[in-house]
Amino acid sequence: MKLPYIVLVDDDIQVLRAIQRDIRNQYREDYKIAATESAIEALELIKELKLKNEAVALFISDQRMPEMEGVAFLEKANEIFPEAKKVLLTAYSDTEAAIKAINDVHLHYYLLKPWHPPEEKLFPVINDLLDDWHASFKPDHEATRIIGFQWSPKSHALKEFLSGNLVPYIWMDIEGNEEAEKYLVSANVSKSDLPLIVLKDGTPMVNPQLHEVAERVGLQQKATKEIYDVLIIGAGPAGLAASVYGSCEGLKTVLIEKKNPGGQASSSARIENYLGFPTGLSGAELTRRAITQSTRFGTEILTPQMVKSITVKDGYKITEMMDGAQINSKTIVIATGAEYAKLEIPGADNFTGSGVYYGAAAVEAHACRNEAIYIVGGGNSACQAAMYMSKFCSEVNIVIRKDALSKTAANYLVENIKNTPNIKVLTNTEVVACSGNNVLENITLRDDKTGEERVVPTKALFIYIGTRPGTTWLNDVVLKDNKGFILTGNELMKEKSFHTFWKEEREPYLPETSVPGIFASGDVRAGALAGISSAVGEGALAIRFVRKYLQESY
Ligand SMILES: Cc1cc2nc3c(=O)[nH]c(=O)nc-3n(C[C@H](O)[C@H](O)[C@H](O)COP(=O)(O)OP(=O)(O)OC[C@H]3O[C@@H](n4cnc5c(N)ncnc54)[C@H](O)[C@@H]3O)c2cc1C
Repeated sequence: MKLPYIVLVDDDIQVLRAIQRDIRNQYREDYKIAATESAIEALELIKELKLKNEAVALFISDQRMPEMEGVAFLEKANEIFPEAKKVLLTAYSDTEAAIKAINDVHLHYYLLKPWHPPEEKLFPVINDLLDDWHASFKPDHEATRIIGFQWSPKSHALKEFLSGNLVPYIWMDIEGNEEAEKYLVSANVSKSDLPLIVLKDGTPMVNPQLHEVAERVGLQQKATKEIYDVLIIGAGPAGLAASVYGSCEGLKTVLIEKKNPGGQASSSARIENYLGFPTGLSGAELTRRAITQSTRFGTEILTPQMVKSITVKDGYKITEMMDGAQINSKTIVIATGAEYAKLEIPGADNFTGSGVYYGAAAVEAHACRNEAIYIVGGGNSACQAAMYMSKFCSEVNIVIRKDALSKTAANYLVENIKNTPNIKVLTNTEVVACSGNNVLENITLRDDKTGEERVVPTKALFIYIGTRPGTTWLNDVVLKDNKGFILTGNELMKEKSFHTFWKEEREPYLPETSVPGIFASGDVRAGALAGISSAVGEGALAIRFVRKYLQESY
């Protein structure tokens, strides 16, 4: 197997030798290491590597170089190997340039010189970046393939499922990829049977169900224990955090997720406000880290498994799945967050998955290369999606009803959008219809000031118009507010009927629902502050009270 490259660039021969020595000592078994004093020479080299179909995992470049500054070099390198990780080597006095580069070239890290001892200051960072790179990169011959029609909802569902579960795959559009035809012939499948999955070992799966794919790619779907200390429903940031803290404290923990771990956060192309990640990180990266942490401590993650209902018997909780399986636990944390609100306009339902997408920018970005696309919504998530898509699309149009983006989005995103020439903001405008034959072809835009309507061609409409609580599945076992959010702690005590349902001597704990031992955390909880950090905090807090409840009840 070909080893991927690490490319080092520094005009200062002393520094180049030092970094080359450290990187070589640590990584030479698994990577080829190329080092040069010239940025121009490095660019020639990486163009050559691209032609030879080699992979580059990491670039490390000094900032101050006479031929070209490090940031400019990394920008050019990014055009050739966009998936490679980028590290800028800086002196303390260049920190400002490095911080600016986080936005300009999507820098992954800036490393201050000197980096000694490398065991503390260099290797942990590089290991982390290389792990991330490996999580999304698979050499052609080792990857699972999905073969189908680009604008087919079934193909989209498979792509979304595999990417959400961090299973690397290669997407092959039957209409634009000659290689794809060969897989059809060898699997004896006709185009009308698509999508086709070809697993790493060559096994074909024709138009498979998600749970069949899950089983074949090794995702756990059945619980192994008779009873768990804590059962967590929903693997968004709140559920994942609860699972990490639960299993880390030695509780028998099971986490159930209906789609893919990560929740809403997994569709975020770039999270910039999570503490400790100054260069931002994608939802997929955050999720990968959390899953690794949680399974390391012994959490069982069942996916895809949708919870249908909860019942309580003698203080024990019985959770039933859609497939009829039941799991017993002493406590439950409901962390089912929120789901996208639907765009209720003519035609939108007909094209969901075939041109109309809810929060799937990261999955469909490559398919929208050089296209003009539309995003509905003016919140932070819509803006993040626009920034991400602007790297691939010829034109990104954000459609908002208000007269300025600054009314609904964070300042830094508004500024980034202003500075991105291929993003346009269509203010006082609404999308009022979608049309096409088999796939989305046109949308109708209405100017809210003049009432004038115009039809514009597009292959993709991404919808980010807010969310509603993820409790439509939940029977009436716990109290909810009139919008469907779960009431907990103090909010419960404000209910007139409090004494009719609460029979404990103590007051309900902060995240506890109307049923003792069932907790709610994250976006699903009434009064929660939406956001990843709050959800993580709430997940951790729920476990503190789970422990308290277990101590006093069992
Ligand atoms: C595109 C986008 C970008 C965002 N970017 C940011 C950002 O940069 N910074 C920030 O702070 N916040 C951001 N947010 C908001 C943030 O992601 C949410 O506040 C956070 O994910 C809430 O976490 P949660 O765990 O409470 O719920 P969710 O993330 O909603 O997770 C709930 C999980 O429960 C699962 N589930 C639901 N019902 C069931 C069931 N019956 N059985 C099993 N599983 C079930 C769902 O599939 C889901 O995985 C963003 C949101 C979106 C949509």
